[in-house]
Amino acid sequence: AAGRRFLVGGNWKMNGSKASIAELAKAWGAAKVDDNVEVVIGAPALYLDYVRQQLPASFATAAQNSYKVASGAFTGEISPAMIKDVGADWVILGHSERRHIFKEADELIGEKVQHALESGLKVIACVGELLEEREAGDTQKVVDRQMHAIAGHVSDWSRVVIAYEPVWAIGTGKTASPEQAQEVHANIRAWLKTNVSEDVAAATRIIYGGSVKPANCVELSKKEDVDGFLVGGASLKPDFVDIINCTR
Ligand code: PEP
Repeated sequence: AAGRRFLVGGNWKMNGSKASIAELAKAWGAAKVDDNVEVVIGAPALYLDYVRQQLPASFATAAQNSYKVASGAFTGEISPAMIKDVGADWVILGHSERRHIFKEADELIGEKVQHALESGLKVIACVGELLEEREAGDTQKVVDRQMHAIAGHVSDWSRVVIAYEPVWAIGTGKTASPEQAQEVHANIRAWLKTNVSEDVAAATRIIYGGSVKPANCVELSKKEDVDGFLVGGASLKPDFVDIINCTR
């Protein structure tokens, strides 16, 4: 809304193979895609190079994580410089699976955001509360704390997108209602206005994630502060294009 370019991200998580990627890329390449929408596909790092070769040129690609320094003795990690080197422009950081399964703390996520931006990547930074936090009435407190840890490390807001992903809605088939999403998105925008600036609050895309699919994306997309989606399971299917096209 309000002049912000709609962005639809796919997060494949730890899924896919060369064969399935080639098949999806073929389907998407043949589909009619709204070119007003920015599309970013988060693939497993191992396949980023291949995905870049296969996908339509208008689809940007993203890694799903990156470390906080450029190189060195960090077995198993990948750096933003490597991600750029294979043709990806984005990285998803702070995803709830990184936070909760791999125990990444707010401060580490902040440092990763800082280094990714310094390295020239664009960042989809994820925030969101657990079910027990929502039920305790702590949603905004949790999201504000996560925003604070990210914002302290942001040098260039034009290269940051915030993804609000309530953890109870990720991969569960339980979507936040358009009203629930709008409420938190509006609060995140208000947080940016108070803690960063009015211009950044007005320009920053805040996208929603959590069981988005073709059947629920249109209603969510109509909300004033919903500027796109981050899509997990439904981004592994040919009809992900229907989500990209949901504002048409
Ligand atoms: C995600 O992984 O960011 C996500 C929102 O997953 P899903 O769409 O499958 O709930």
